[in-house]
Amino acid sequence: MTGEMPGRAAAAAPREIVLALGSNLGDRLANLQAGIDALAASGGIAAMAVSGVFETSPVGGPDQPDYLNAVLLATSGLPARAVLDRCQAAERARGRVHTLRWGPRTLDIDIIAYGDEVSDDPVLTLPHPRAHQRAFVLVPWHDADPDARLPGFGPVAGLLASAGEDGVRRRSDLSLAVGRQAAANQGG
Ligand code: AMP
Repeated sequence: MTGEMPGRAAAAAPREIVLALGSNLGDRLANLQAGIDALAASGGIAAMAVSGVFETSPVGGPDQPDYLNAVLLATSGLPARAVLDRCQAAERARGRVHTLRWGPRTLDIDIIAYGDEVSDDPVLTLPHPRAHQRAFVLVPWHDADPDARLPGFGPVAGLLASAGEDGVRRRSDLSLAVGRQAAANQGG
């Protein structure tokens, strides 16, 4: 039988997404965790794994404090622009104001890759145009998934070998969690 199946047509197949989080103002670790929690609570984004936490020297921009960075691996069936909206809502919820380009911020969330999607739209460029050369993205991403590939560029391990790890230090004393809300709801 052919025909419509009410309520079933809209869902797109979930794709793997890679999000880079950074903070260099306020309680940096709490800002990163709040970003992960906000995305997970927003519906339609399933957080799968998070990297370790890395302290990194600022790249570009004015004189500013060091960052904490991490990479979140997730899946989503939402359009990429809807995920960008949620990333920006999570930034705003943490008091982020877009002022200076590459200036200090409480929370920054960039979409590094969205499945194999490629776009040169300045509002959402995919993959992220500078990810392939940014150690503060590549080191945590490789930590979360040593076999990761950046669409159009190849294995993250190779990109990391070229970019080097200067200015990126692992903070073994710090960690982030995915699924805290689910655990809390189960009383865990
Ligand atoms: P930022 O200062 O890093 O938060 O940059 C934010 C601006 O970059 C916003 O205007 C976004 O629309 C734009 N943008 C373009 N591509 C991306 C991407 N892959 N992830 C996040 N923001 C992006």
